[in-house]
Amino acid sequence: MATTAPERKLLLAGDWIETGDWLEVRSPYSGDVVGRVAKAGADEARRAVDAAEAAMREPLPAYERAAILDRVARLLETRREDAAQLISAEAGKPLKAARVEAARAVSTFTFAAVEARKLVGETVPMDASQAGAGKLALTLRRPIGVVGAISPFNFPLNLVAHKLAPALAAGCAVVLKPASQTPFSALLLAELMTEAGLPRGWLNVLVGQASAIGDVLVEDERVRALTFTGSGEVGWKLAERAPRKRVKLELGNATPVLVEADADLEDVAARLAANAFAFAGQSCISVQRVYVRREAYDELVARFVPKVEALVVGDPADESTDVGPMIDRDARDRVLAWIEEARAAGAEILTGGGLEGELLRPTVIAGAGPGLKVSCEEVFGPVCTVTPYDTLDEAIELANGTRYGLQAGVFTRDVKTALAAAERLEFGGVTVNEAPTFRADQMPYGGVKDSGNTREGPAYAVRELTEDRLVVLEL
Ligand code: NAP
Repeated sequence: MATTAPERKLLLAGDWIETGDWLEVRSPYSGDVVGRVAKAGADEARRAVDAAEAAMREPLPAYERAAILDRVARLLETRREDAAQLISAEAGKPLKAARVEAARAVSTFTFAAVEARKLVGETVPMDASQAGAGKLALTLRRPIGVVGAISPFNFPLNLVAHKLAPALAAGCAVVLKPASQTPFSALLLAELMTEAGLPRGWLNVLVGQASAIGDVLVEDERVRALTFTGSGEVGWKLAERAPRKRVKLELGNATPVLVEADADLEDVAARLAANAFAFAGQSCISVQRVYVRREAYDELVARFVPKVEALVVGDPADESTDVGPMIDRDARDRVLAWIEEARAAGAEILTGGGLEGELLRPTVIAGAGPGLKVSCEEVFGPVCTVTPYDTLDEAIELANGTRYGLQAGVFTRDVKTALAAAERLEFGGVTVNEAPTFRADQMPYGGVKDSGNTREGPAYAVRELTEDRLVVLEL
């Protein structure tokens, strides 16, 4: 193949290896080759688990783990622009958003370094029972063991950081399988972790046949935890197949927002326009369903639609672009079909609904019934619905009318309404006067129902990747 695009090897047992087989990564915008990467399968996956297990036989003390994490944060800080360019090239993410992702990944490593330093157990009040009297007991936080990590395409740097950094903070070696469409950001992180002094075997990165690598991670009993971010379809199957492992799932959402009549509608319109279409809606918490008090509905729509129409659609490498391509043509055509389903059912397309060149225009749909895919499934594209409601009860019922439960938002100036909504929205997180697309990396972030079963954010992920060992002392 004649190409000048970079070739990247895989990290296995501390060596950068080729496999004789290559995977080509293309720009979702131009179709040009971004680069090619060595392609792994089951054999490399088994060797990676061997290497991770061997690495963990010589535990790294907390101060060394913390120092490595701090060094990665510093290295990444100096390579932030490179990382952003890479994210943008392989994922088609507009540069503005890619830069935010790169900055956030620095903070993910920084927070993980803190967690490595404060990993503590607890003392058990033994004399609280007659049986325990005269004894002292405490718990040690032990690393759970080798971690298998699988990550999606949409945040190819920071979601990989959310796998690798807490695992190292917890003292676990990792076998990582990043998304095939976006492996280069993960390989950049692997390079930085190696440069930061991570010893051989602690991180192994395999790109390639998802099911073959996944099967090894599921079946090999030395892999004690699987941490997966991606679609529910894949995630729940992994969990079913690995009942004896800790399987931590971060999955999708159909993100709702409630807008009360007392909200600052200009501010709401601006936040919604910025958060329903960024990265072409391909964030698990992209605003998708906007429910508005009937008396505020017309005004909100009148303020919102022009802001959506002002978004710049185009080349993700262009500094001014707000909305770029979807990850591939199949994904785009699926979303177009969902828009058509809504249109055929009588919904009104207020703006967008079609293509601008090859790109899907930001689309706002009114009058979409609750049974339509755009109203209850995860669109994962640049589409949102607007729907009026008469009572808070009705709004909450509509918002909860999905199998998902990751984050939801409510805009109101009334604290009682905000807290009532936060109590009753069946989601892992509720934002008030902020779009539910908001995430800071130290937050406990994760879903209920079909959106998953865990919380990420280094402090919370470290808890999931360690287990208590009880020590009882006879005094
Ligand atoms: P996906 O298709 O489920 O892929 C995610 C990862 O799973 C990729 O690395 C993929 O590998 C791998 N995979 C696919 N089949 C597998 C198998 N049989 N065994 C093991 N691994 C397998 O998801 P996606 O399209 O990349 O990401 C979009 C989804 O992720 C959306 O639903 C989104 O909401 C969700 N998401 C959730 C969060 C969160 O924090 N809750 C964050 C971001 C995204 P290949 O790439 O090689 O196929």
